[in-house]
Amino acid sequence: MPTTIHDVAVIGGSYAGISAALQLARARKSVLIIDAGARRNRFASHSHGFLGRDGVSPAAIAEEAKAQLLAYPDVVWKDARAVEASGEMDDFTIGDSMGDIFRARRIILAGGVEDILPEIDGLSEQWGINAFSCPYCHGYEMQRGRLAVIATGLMSAQKAIMVSEWGETTLFSNGTFKPQDADRAEFARRNIALHSSLIRRVAGMPGAPVLTLDDGTEAAFDGLFVTPEFRLTNDIHAQLGCTVDPTAIGDIIKVDAMQATNIAGVFACGDAANPMATIAMAVSRGAMAGVATHRSLIMSAASDKAA
Ligand SMILES: Cc1cc2nc3c(=O)[nH]c(=O)nc-3n(C[C@H](O)[C@H](O)[C@H](O)COP(=O)(O)OP(=O)(O)OC[C@H]3O[C@@H](n4cnc5c(N)ncnc54)[C@H](O)[C@@H]3O)c2cc1C
Repeated sequence: MPTTIHDVAVIGGSYAGISAALQLARARKSVLIIDAGARRNRFASHSHGFLGRDGVSPAAIAEEAKAQLLAYPDVVWKDARAVEASGEMDDFTIGDSMGDIFRARRIILAGGVEDILPEIDGLSEQWGINAFSCPYCHGYEMQRGRLAVIATGLMSAQKAIMVSEWGETTLFSNGTFKPQDADRAEFARRNIALHSSLIRRVAGMPGAPVLTLDDGTEAAFDGLFVTPEFRLTNDIHAQLGCTVDPTAIGDIIKVDAMQATNIAGVFACGDAANPMATIAMAVSRGAMAGVATHRSLIMSAASDKAA
């Protein structure tokens, strides 16, 4: 067991984790970041909607943030996957995929989520190129063109209605969605075409997705949206006893307004704890987690002194 104990271990070193660590490094706390290097947006070449970095590659944003963080001397970065965690506030133990063991007084969970795409031939190859989930992130570039939404379940009506703000929309029910009368009325009001075909294949050059329908017909679009289900990328939260909040498309870690989980000394931020998945949201919640974790360290130091 190592004798060194870090003030904070951050699990996940992307936008949320780096944002949390930055606040702590600036408060002169010792921070360990363990990162497996698989950001959710690694499939996209450009990122949009993050203040000051609109249109920049997702990797460039993360790499610049990491370089700035590593300029602080009390930050240790480990490229690995955290695989186990145990202990309690002021003495957690974390084991990683390389067999190393670390100790930390606090833990911040910032491991994000992974998307579970519907099983359609070609869709995973098109993810981040022609197929996206978030119209705020990628809808503008589709130039008010012809947009397809592939239904994945209950949220599909909402998705098609939202996407229609960005262009002329066709919703493919793909065997997963039966519209109610109210949906049909709203689709008519917004000129959303409803197509009951199954989708056999997704292909196309960047900016020009082509759907092959069940009867072999090809339909060309300027953009494609899908709302996939997602899962948390690891089970560290469960090992520590953190509760989750179910959403319609996947579980997230349950946190309060200060990003604290139900386990004392464990905080969570970013997509792992917020269904509103954008870099701006991840950075914002990460900063809150960093400050809240620092406050928690201050409070326990103060109570140690009083005792
Ligand atoms: C195709 C696509 C395009 C997108 N485009 C945009 C866009 O243009 N603009 C925008 O604002 N948002 C966009 N997003 C959303 C954005 O990717 C996420 O909101 C953002 O990445 C969340 O940041 P995060 O730090 O919470 O998690 P992530 O960026 O997903 O990072 C989590 C990190 O934790 C690591 N990790 C996981 N488990 C462990 C473990 N056990 N041990 C160590 N490390 C671990 C992962 O490997 C990863 O490095 C897009 C998403 C997708 C899928």
